[in-house]
Amino acid sequence: MPCGAGAFARVNLQMMATDVQVAVRKVVSVNPATGKLLRQFEPATEADVRAAVARARTAQPGWNDAGVRRRIAVLRSFQGLLHQNKSEVARVITSEVGKPLVEALLTEVLVVLDATRFCIETAYSFLRDQPVPHGNLAMKTKSGRILRQPYGVVGIISPWNYPFSIPATETLAALVTGNAVVLKPSEFTSLAALELARLLWMAGVPEDVFQVVVGDGIAGSALLNSEIDKLIFTGSVATGKRIAQAAAARILPVVLELGGKDPMLVLDDANVEVASSGAVWGAFMNAGEACLSIERCYVHRSLYQQFVETCACKAKQLKVGNGMDSETDVGPMIHERQLRIVESQVKDAVSRGARVLSGGARLEKLGPNFYAPTVLADVTHDMQIMREETFGPVLPVMPFDSDEQAVTLANDSDYGLGASVWTRDRARGEALAKRIQAGTVMINDAVSCFGISEALHGGVKASGLGRSHGHFGLEEMVRVKYLDVDLLGGVKKSWWYGYGEKFKRQMEGLVDMMFARKWTERLRGTLLTVGTFRLKGKL
Ligand code: NAD
Repeated sequence: MPCGAGAFARVNLQMMATDVQVAVRKVVSVNPATGKLLRQFEPATEADVRAAVARARTAQPGWNDAGVRRRIAVLRSFQGLLHQNKSEVARVITSEVGKPLVEALLTEVLVVLDATRFCIETAYSFLRDQPVPHGNLAMKTKSGRILRQPYGVVGIISPWNYPFSIPATETLAALVTGNAVVLKPSEFTSLAALELARLLWMAGVPEDVFQVVVGDGIAGSALLNSEIDKLIFTGSVATGKRIAQAAAARILPVVLELGGKDPMLVLDDANVEVASSGAVWGAFMNAGEACLSIERCYVHRSLYQQFVETCACKAKQLKVGNGMDSETDVGPMIHERQLRIVESQVKDAVSRGARVLSGGARLEKLGPNFYAPTVLADVTHDMQIMREETFGPVLPVMPFDSDEQAVTLANDSDYGLGASVWTRDRARGEALAKRIQAGTVMINDAVSCFGISEALHGGVKASGLGRSHGHFGLEEMVRVKYLDVDLLGGVKKSWWYGYGEKFKRQMEGLVDMMFARKWTERLRGTLLTVGTFRLKGKL
């Protein structure tokens, strides 16, 4: 219908439960669409985590010594296996987090296949020593280069919303650069992580080089406090702050990929038909549980009424249901606790004057975790829905009157992960994009650049530190070292001891020779410098 104008690695996989009411300490995977218990696990203890890290440490040098060509060959084999198993992997993901199968295929499996391609194509040249030509005349006998060496053991702590693509892209970058990895996946999505482990091991990654420790925050904290060399954390701002504090105490390098509250700016020349479809997809895909979801929508007042009505009409046409059904557009939320956050933010917005144009309620008939795609009009920055991360299927929209005001509104947030600008005028869009405080700004699309392996991913402000994906993601996995070779190794250096008045004058000459503005001073400096390299008198 048209709208508007236009394991723990060695976990016992046999262990099955018969009832969701399992002991509190167990880690359970539950299908959020049906409530069915998929599997339960013993969580890794602190000792298990320490042991996993110790095994990884022992195994890592062999993996590094195997060389980048060998590691690339293993990744190629992983890529082939993942491709062969694409439907099975997508089904595991959908059963554990509820997203439509097609989203599991595109935003998880395809993203990882492409990230593997990127690592295969890039790792060799990335790890090659990088010569550092330099312009310091006084040091001309020196030849330097940058080495990129693996950290050693990289800990990865990941969330549930992209339970395969997030840990996999980070893991691939860590492995190809020669690190061992210990992954602590979200307690809600252990199966997707174990699926990743199964394929990596089949491809030839040694079992101790990639390990999964299943567990909740306690296992995450144990990994943080273990003898890892770097931590890549993806999750909420609240947990990220705790991690940053603990990491600071021991100067552990961390990457923090945290929450977002991404703004969408619809300028007065935007195509309403296109932008409204983009808004609906960007806000409701993955049931709104994407870090890059559109969570705040600002529309020029001249388009506002038409835009909100079109979005509401489109939202009403979305089919909400079990992600296993290929007709489903929007699946369940991960659990009822997450749904209650959405419910409370919508309630707060309505109590302060927001209008519900579609949705705004649970879909109880479908199960406890389903929430209708919701379009809210007339929201303001006084409302929680415009200030706190919602992480659910809600599109809150408010009008603006000028580009200047739109940028101010976009930047009026603690977060700075992604943003989008919608316009027919590319130059105008790019000019605004440069002024928006975010790690990524897209023009005329949202969310999807997560699928570009060469693009970087990461945020500013409370959205985090460091980057994953692309060249910058590889850089996070290596220590850079400067290796300097003196080409006259048998000769004492002129700047070593042997100071005195004469040497001081020569050095003043050297500084003038290199940096004086007038050529006469330079010439005088050059003459004074003569003799500097006669090394008589050096200790
Ligand atoms: P979360 O912070 O609750 O948990 C994330 C991970 O941290 C889980 O594995 C959890 O077990 C672990 N954890 C919890 N407490 C811990 C502790 N004290 N020490 C160590 N580990 C601990 O987040 P979540 O609910 O799983 O994920 C949703 C959040 O993740 C959202 O805020 C979302 O925006 C964010 N996210 C960010 C990105 C990004 O790339 N920036 C991507 C996806 C999700």
